[in-house]
Amino acid sequence: MAYAVNSQAIARSTLKAVFGYDAFRPHQEDAVVAALEGRDAAVLLPTGAGKSLCFQVPAIAKAREGEGPALVISPLIALMADQVNALQGRGVKAALVNSHQRDAANHATLRAYARGELELLYVSPERAAGPGFRELLDLTPPCLIAVDEAHCVSQWGHDFRPEYMRLSELRESCSAPMMAATATATPRVLKELIRRLGLADPAVVRGDFRRANLCFSVEHRRSKADRTKRLIEMLKDAGFQGRRGSKAIVYCSTRKATEAVADALQAEGFAARHYHAGRTKRERERAQHAFGVGRLRILVATSAFGMGIDFPDVRLVVHYQSPGSLEAYFQEAGRAGRDGDAANCVLFFGAADMQTQRRLISGSHRGAGEALRAMEAYAHADRCREQLLCEHFGMAETPPCGRCDVCLGDVSFEEDAPPTPPALGEEALATIVAAVGGLTRPVGKTALARALRGSRAKALNKGGLLHLPEHGALKEHEERAIVSAIETCLSEGRLAHRGNKYPTVWIPGKPVRSAKAPGAAPRAAKKKAPKAFRRAAYSPLQGALERFRKRKARELKWKPYMVFQKRTISALDETRPSTLDELHAIPGLGHSRIERFGEDLLRLIRENP
Ligand code: ADP
Ligand code: ZN
Repeated sequence: MAYAVNSQAIARSTLKAVFGYDAFRPHQEDAVVAALEGRDAAVLLPTGAGKSLCFQVPAIAKAREGEGPALVISPLIALMADQVNALQGRGVKAALVNSHQRDAANHATLRAYARGELELLYVSPERAAGPGFRELLDLTPPCLIAVDEAHCVSQWGHDFRPEYMRLSELRESCSAPMMAATATATPRVLKELIRRLGLADPAVVRGDFRRANLCFSVEHRRSKADRTKRLIEMLKDAGFQGRRGSKAIVYCSTRKATEAVADALQAEGFAARHYHAGRTKRERERAQHAFGVGRLRILVATSAFGMGIDFPDVRLVVHYQSPGSLEAYFQEAGRAGRDGDAANCVLFFGAADMQTQRRLISGSHRGAGEALRAMEAYAHADRCREQLLCEHFGMAETPPCGRCDVCLGDVSFEEDAPPTPPALGEEALATIVAAVGGLTRPVGKTALARALRGSRAKALNKGGLLHLPEHGALKEHEERAIVSAIETCLSEGRLAHRGNKYPTVWIPGKPVRSAKAPGAAPRAAKKKAPKAFRRAAYSPLQGALERFRKRKARELKWKPYMVFQKRTISALDETRPSTLDELHAIPGLGHSRIERFGEDLLRLIRENP
């Protein structure tokens, strides 16, 4: 509170002295002043607006006033390292601890923190929520706790991290204000991060999500051939054939698609390459470098590309396939026009995209289904795209942009798309879940849909399908509408997949008993099924781990058991570790495997609840 009068002056002089900037960008100062005055804050700024300065400036000012070091919690090790390097280059005493660094180095850093020798300490959420960290804060209370990428605390967000749920505990040791920063600003995420991080009456600083130099448009295209043809046409029109010049990014949902599209572009003589997380680190760095220096003009990438990198002269971002949420779309499309010059963001959209996304997100976070519906609504909207995006990010009453395809009146109509059946309502979804709850064993989606439509086909004599109270309850709906509603339930985690070879649906977490099916013909005292059969009821996580193991074995030309053994899969499935440290307790996972596969395993566990 000592700052109340002159916190603005302190903020500005620190900005100038440390960063050399003369003025804050819009909204930054509000966040900085809140922190200087000891108030909690939620900072929602679009990528590139300058979020990091919002916590770095008060952190440095307070630390230099003798209030102790600041703590920054960040989930992205690469970004953390970039920020720490940049700060050190400006003479700030910043350091980081994370699991990729040797223990000795981490300990030395923590000792420096405890002795008050640091101004900013960056830590991963695993560390911050892990053992011993609170004791450290008891010893040396921080002057500010900044939580970067704070949407990770939201189960409705696209990046949920369980460790974030424990960050509110850190405040029990100290009275430091907490600043939560994110580029995901939907009202729901805001509400959830305030609640889960325990922010008290926070200053809410919301940036302007409009980008006056971007033109958004949507083109409805069904087939890949059509999309590829149109993409080539667009790139030619925009002059992307030359060896040098501005850049374009083409985003695809799958690795396979990036390869196919890059091939097609190369065949047309474009300087294009593909980029995805399955390529080696070296290949990715090379592609990124070539793109950075302009030798490569078109990068065809999955969402793995772009986090924390900024290329000013991207003139075109095409989504060859639709992403699964508007947050992801806005973040990726927003990589266009960072230099402020005009740029285009084009989304190719078709019903097949939603199916691909449902498959990709199946059983992932709670808000996945809802996020898909928002994406769908954006694609089908007949009002200003920017307005809709702003509304999604919580900005009320922005005027129409005058630049998007809708504002300009050149909306592409939905070419030869078959009429999509109307999506089933909540009541029907509840009926589906209830029906699955009454089954005696998992069944396929089509079989379930047919039974709900009232079919009495012999083939449905399994799992008690013919005897469900819900049999025939959805008879007025088309089979594919019901199948798609079942997929919605799967993507929202209300149903789970079982089995690998023939995917069937089941209630998440419910054990499959070898009970007698009431509908099945009575069988004389059935013996226990042979072992192989009993094991068939794989949990989604076991299935995912098994597929991961096979894929890695193929990539590394190893035998699957060399990646890890079945008992490791069972142990992971039973104990569901959530941190790298916890992985050390799993049989069959040593240091080198954890280093190599640890992050992937944690991700699979998160993605398969
Ligand atoms: P975000 O985290 O919001 O994506 P960054 O914090 O990385 O954005 O900032 C984006 C860029 O803008 C950085 O290069 C940063 O140095 C620059 N920047 C931030 N604030 C200012 C400012 N007030 N004046 C000039 N440049 C700024
Ligand atoms: Zn518009």
